[in-house]
Amino acid sequence: MAARESKAARVARAGRIAATLARLYPEARVTLDFKTPWQLLAATILSAQCTDERVNVVTPALFRRYPDPQATAAADVRDLERLVVTTGFFRQKARSLKAAAKQIVERYRGEVPASMDELVKLPGVGRKTANVVLGHAFGIPGLAVDTHVGRVAYRLGLTRESDPDKIEADLRELLPPEQWTAFSMRLILHGRRVCVARKPRCAECALVADCPTTGVSNFR
Ligand code: SF4
Repeated sequence: MAARESKAARVARAGRIAATLARLYPEARVTLDFKTPWQLLAATILSAQCTDERVNVVTPALFRRYPDPQATAAADVRDLERLVVTTGFFRQKARSLKAAAKQIVERYRGEVPASMDELVKLPGVGRKTANVVLGHAFGIPGLAVDTHVGRVAYRLGLTRESDPDKIEADLRELLPPEQWTAFSMRLILHGRRVCVARKPRCAECALVADCPTTGVSNFR
C-alpha cells in the first residue's frame, strides 16, 4: 500500500483485485467436502493445521459413523480420536467435535446456529471457522481469514495487521458483503497457487498492476 493511498483509492483497488480474482477463480467454492452445516463445521475444525485434501480423506468414514450433532455428541471420544488421528492434534479436535456437537444438541435443538455470535460460543470454533460455515453452508457473507488470506492481503496492501480479526475488519471495509465469502476463498486459492509463502510468483501474477509489493523480496 502506498503510504498516502486514500481510503477511496484503496477501496477502488480492492474492487479491481476482487474482479481480477473472480476471473481467475470463478468457482470459489470451499474445498472441504460436506453435505450439511454440521459436516462443514466439523470438517473446518479438522482442517486446522491440516490440508483440506487430508480432511476429505478422513471425513467420509467419520460422517458415515457420526453423521450429525446428535450422533457425535453421543460418540466415544476415543473412537472419534481414532477416526481423525491423521489430521493432527487429534485429541483436541476429537474433544472439540464432541463438545461442539453436545452444545448444538443442548442449546440449538441439534441445528447448527446461523449467526457469528452463536457459532463462536461453540468449543473449538473461532471467527475463521464461523465465517466458513456462514459463507459456504448458509449463504451469509463471511470473510474467513486464514494464513493465506492474511499473507496475500498484507502483500497487496489491503491491511497492515497481523491479527486475523483485525485483518477481517480491514477487508470487510473494502468490499461489499456480497463479495466477502468468495473474496476470502479466492485469496486462499491465489495464496496456494501464485502468491505462495516463500517465493511469490510475481512474474506470473495477474494482480501485479495493483500490488504494491511486487518484486520486493523481503516481505511477509
Ligand atoms: S504480485 Fe507478487 S506479491 Fe503481489 S499478489 Fe501477486 S504474487 Fe503476491
